[in-house]
Amino acid sequence: MAKNSREPLAAYWAKRDFAKTAEPRGERTSSGKGLSFVIQKHAATRLHYDFRLELDGVLVSWAVPKGPSLDPAEKRLAVHVEDHPLEYARFEGRIPEGEYGAGAVIVWDQGTWSPDGDPRDDLKRGRLEFHLAGKKLSGGWLLLRMKNRSPRDKDNWLLIK
Ligand code: MN
Repeated sequence: MAKNSREPLAAYWAKRDFAKTAEPRGERTSSGKGLSFVIQKHAATRLHYDFRLELDGVLVSWAVPKGPSLDPAEKRLAVHVEDHPLEYARFEGRIPEGEYGAGAVIVWDQGTWSPDGDPRDDLKRGRLEFHLAGKKLSGGWLLLRMKNRSPRDKDNWLLIK
């Protein structure tokens, strides 16, 4: 789901110095086990939860500042960020000071996900409905892209149970 490049992981690689961080460099690959998802709790400068869905050999990713809510009335901001390699789903550890995303990362939940429609079309149009089968999260979820007010706004979505 790269925006400016045919290599979906180009933005991920560009932000990181793999001589300094223990995060995987990774490559586009397939898990071969259906579609996995992972949520990583990331104690960066601002604590957030990284919500990642496997699609086409990478992890399509959103940073969710408040984390997912089980209350369908709670819409949680989810900022679409760069695709991550599939092996990132196993990453736990501390990103060193001075590196991108410095702070501790733990796996908060993981499992499999299934899109309700065609996920590529749904991501393009900004409305992705899907089901999760994880340890903490399950059932039906929606990611909905917000209308940007200015071109400088981030790629903001809402994550809703
Ligand atoms: Mn993060």
